[in-house]
Amino acid sequence: MLGNTTASATLCVQLARLQEAGTASDEHSALAKAFCTTRMRESVGWARELLGGNGILLEHNVGRFVADAEAIYSYEGTREMNTLIVGKAITGLSAFV
Ligand SMILES: Cc1cc2nc3c(=O)[nH]c(=O)nc-3n(C[C@H](O)[C@H](O)[C@H](O)COP(=O)(O)OP(=O)(O)OC[C@H]3O[C@@H](n4cnc5c(N)ncnc54)[C@H](O)[C@@H]3O)c2cc1C
Repeated sequence: MLGNTTASATLCVQLARLQEAGTASDEHSALAKAFCTTRMRESVGWARELLGGNGILLEHNVGRFVADAEAIYSYEGTREMNTLIVGKAITGLSAFV
């Protein structure tokens, strides 16, 4: 979980640097969003697992983070759409129309 958080934060810092330099693209954003939300979904799943059945109960808050992660994973571009955008950028081939 710490590795996921650190990797995601590092990617976001790099994206912010590109933004400041005026070289950030939509494809950079798509990569960051796809990567960070996938790692987030994985991490909150582990947090839920760590607490066993209690991880599902609202009083322990982890369930709230799981729900938040699912929302962020899907809105403003789902993982599938963001990976399609990145795939087109790195191969020059579009897998969608
Ligand atoms: C909490 C929350 C808040 C939101 N807020 C807003 C908002 O403020 N404004 C707004 O406009 N919208 C908002 N949305 C909607 C959000 O943008 C859509 O849910 C999201 O774009 C996915 O669209 P969909 O739900 O219609 O899923 P669908 O488009 O039906 O997709 C279903 C699944 O199929 C996949 N899929 C779809 N097309 C392809 C393809 N061509 N190739 C491969 N996979 C594909 C998707 O990735 C997804 O996993 C919000 C959603 C949530 C969950």
